Amino acid sequence: MGKYSSRGCLLADKLCNCVSGIRILQEMEGSLTARDRVGIQDFVLLDAYTSETAFMDNLRKRFNENFIYTYIGILLVPVNPYKELGIYTKKQLDIYMGVSFFELPPHFFALADNVYRTMISEANNHFILISSESGAGKTGASESPAVLCSVLTVSSKRMLTLNVLYLQAFGNAKTLKNDNSSQFGKYMDIQFDHQGAAVGGHVLSYLLEKSRVVHQNHGERNFHIFYQLVEGGEDELLRCLGLERNCQNYRYLIQHLGNVHFEASVLGYATLNSSAEVHWLNPCLCSIYHFQVLCPFTAEHAKYARDALAKAIYGRTFSWLVNNINESLANKVCIDGKDIIFEQFCINFLPYFNNKIICDLVEEKHRGIISILVSGTESTTDFTFLEKLEEKMCGHPHFITHKLADQKTRKTLERGDFRLLHYAREVTYSVVGFLDKNNDLLYRNIKEVRGSTTACILPWFFFFLQVATQFKSSLAGLTEILMTKEPWYVRCLKPNHCKQPDRFDDVMVRHQVKYLGLMEHLRVRRAGFAYRRRYEVFLKRYKALCPDTWPRWKGTPAEGVPGLSKSSRSETVSIRRKKFIKVWKNLRRFFTQSCRFIK
Ligand code: ADP
Repeated sequence: MGKYSSRGCLLADKLCNCVSGIRILQEMEGSLTARDRVGIQDFVLLDAYTSETAFMDNLRKRFNENFIYTYIGILLVPVNPYKELGIYTKKQLDIYMGVSFFELPPHFFALADNVYRTMISEANNHFILISSESGAGKTGASESPAVLCSVLTVSSKRMLTLNVLYLQAFGNAKTLKNDNSSQFGKYMDIQFDHQGAAVGGHVLSYLLEKSRVVHQNHGERNFHIFYQLVEGGEDELLRCLGLERNCQNYRYLIQHLGNVHFEASVLGYATLNSSAEVHWLNPCLCSIYHFQVLCPFTAEHAKYARDALAKAIYGRTFSWLVNNINESLANKVCIDGKDIIFEQFCINFLPYFNNKIICDLVEEKHRGIISILVSGTESTTDFTFLEKLEEKMCGHPHFITHKLADQKTRKTLERGDFRLLHYAREVTYSVVGFLDKNNDLLYRNIKEVRGSTTACILPWFFFFLQVATQFKSSLAGLTEILMTKEPWYVRCLKPNHCKQPDRFDDVMVRHQVKYLGLMEHLRVRRAGFAYRRRYEVFLKRYKALCPDTWPRWKGTPAEGVPGLSKSSRSETVSIRRKKFIKVWKNLRRFFTQSCRFIK
């Protein structure tokens, strides 16, 4: 772990590529007038760096001048402008490509280009973690590296197109917070060969919000694809699918329930009341075999079965789509085991700061909420599940229910609620529907339907893992993937609730600055922990700077790192400011020698 200012560390890096960067940086920092007007482009350089007010002032100043990006060292903080700024053009891209990080005003292109070049020079894997609340700009930002790469090869252009066209159509929906809100977590790989050309890609999706297919909150919509299909699909296609060109005709699209509906018979049992095309659903939606006896459903059960089927079909269609995208993006080129992967990762989950208390509360073995949820024998209804939680979590400082709360808090909770005190804020959950949503099971005879239908997607990969178990194991898999890569962070901020340009709501932004831990991050960066590299990586990159290590070093990498103090606790390099001066002198000597040589 390096311990000098991020500016210093990066300058050292940049100096190997471009000396003029320093001059430009000095000019930019030196210009007091510009500094007053547009603020400082790196919070690390703020004089009053511990003051939240100074942080907010700088952020606001820059936002008002349409400088939506600011750095905290190499962490990028964008504020969503909610307007077109003309900063994502090919011309802008050309300006940023190949230019050192601090030479130009902060931009996502600068970060992506820096990651790309680090990947090439250090020959290792990286990921960019983009996090924020909904509507702050993660999706937009996640497309930028692909934009950057799109100039490199056709394959990444295809990635961008597929991502935007298909994943957004099937995985995004209008919500109150965001007109184009991603309803799934997304992890995307772009794979490069050892020369830096993009050769393939891969997408992983997490926890698609399938319940949106059958229910949307007031003011929100179903997934985009339904409206696109009904309003924009070709006549022939609609005819084949038996659809009409009017969203109003479809209950799932306008807040009622789906078009397959049921009537109660005189005995109170359900009978299907719908068009001939779906008659094959009748036996499975209206009854179930129990010990070989056909038991009819009530209309309520039948509706549940219908919705479960709709969600299951949509979920599997989405998985099928992701699978197909991955096939088309697969790296077909064999590159002698030397491929380098440059990842971008976009998902709302995964805390940056130590969130262990909440993580344990949610997923600890045997005692966490997920464990209690998946041990089906213990909870037969939503409310027995809640009782189980109360029994096991009683006294936990981050867990409250109506029963466990003090008198004042109790008034803010319904009987079926439980509240978790997350790092960001308190979130109240209702247990109603928890077991159903988690089970995500289709009635057995609906599963059997898949064998008899001719629809091409339905038979594809039906499986019945519980949702929480799936999510937990997919997160564990993701963590494993990320542990092997170098992290880069983007923390997007949302300036207001009304999606309006030129409006900076202080209270709202301050809240996000708090829960994203930006002040803590700034303190850490400012203290100098800005640069983290393994000894061997650092030595490989900089050994040319020291006569002792150049051209070949025979000792251990830790001993070979010149002028650097060794951290006894970790395998990373620790450099203090004073020590940096030594490296700096070595750098100068290196350049002087090189110049002489060139002459
Ligand atoms: P998230 O993925 O975090 O939910 P999005 O990336 O979908 O948020 O952003 C929400 C909306 O904000 C976008 O549809 C777009 O209109 C606007 N937006 C986000 N980032 C930018 C940007 N850099 N420039 C202009 N508008 C933006």
